[in-house]
Amino acid sequence: MSTASAYLTVSGIDVDVIYKNIKNLHIAVYPPLGRVRVAAPERLDDETIRLAVVQRLPWIKKQREQLRNAVRQTEREMVTGESHYVWGKRYRLKVINEPGRIRFDVAGKRLTVHAPKDSTAGKRREAMDEWYRTALKHEIAELIAKWQPIVGRSVAKCTVRRMKTKWGSCNRESAHIWLNLELGKKHPNCLEYIVVHEMTHLLERNHNDHFTELMDTFLPDWRARRDELNTAPLRNEIWGK
Ligand SMILES: [Zn+2]
Repeated sequence: MSTASAYLTVSGIDVDVIYKNIKNLHIAVYPPLGRVRVAAPERLDDETIRLAVVQRLPWIKKQREQLRNAVRQTEREMVTGESHYVWGKRYRLKVINEPGRIRFDVAGKRLTVHAPKDSTAGKRREAMDEWYRTALKHEIAELIAKWQPIVGRSVAKCTVRRMKTKWGSCNRESAHIWLNLELGKKHPNCLEYIVVHEMTHLLERNHNDHFTELMDTFLPDWRARRDELNTAPLRNEIWGK
């Protein structure tokens, strides 16, 4: 039997609800984006869960703020020896100084950045963001083409950008989808889950039972993919530790 779970949106915050055989309700905030997850006793109704989340909103906002500060403090230096994630795999960064445009390539367990000696960490990070963006755009185009006939809706536009608290969002009227640049660091299964989640919003705006039923039909293992997305390693690891 699969774990019972649901989505709720409380005061604009997306909440994942997992029903368990427990006595008390627990609220947790997960890195890197501050996803809110509620473990609730089975048969607890939505209104009670909503109320519990509303009461803990100041605490949730504080946790999210702390996570954001932690991410800022561990901004990558883009030097040899750092570990970086690409499509869910961990690579060791190697910097090769050479003139010209900053470029990246992946071979074995190594991610190589070719960059001029005087290029700043900021410039290298910017170039890496563009590299992720290009890879994501390519993958997303294929996913949208695959899922449009299944979902039965067309995506008019998809934008990849940095988002502080969400993996994706969707404007139903314009059929415009936004996806978080950080998805380039996660396993492709996670990207597919977010694409299907946002496309499902073209059919159902709210995180309700209908939405969950649609997700169960389209992507029966969506819960495992969501869990992988929200429990993935933090970004501030150094290779070898
Ligand atoms: Zn959603």
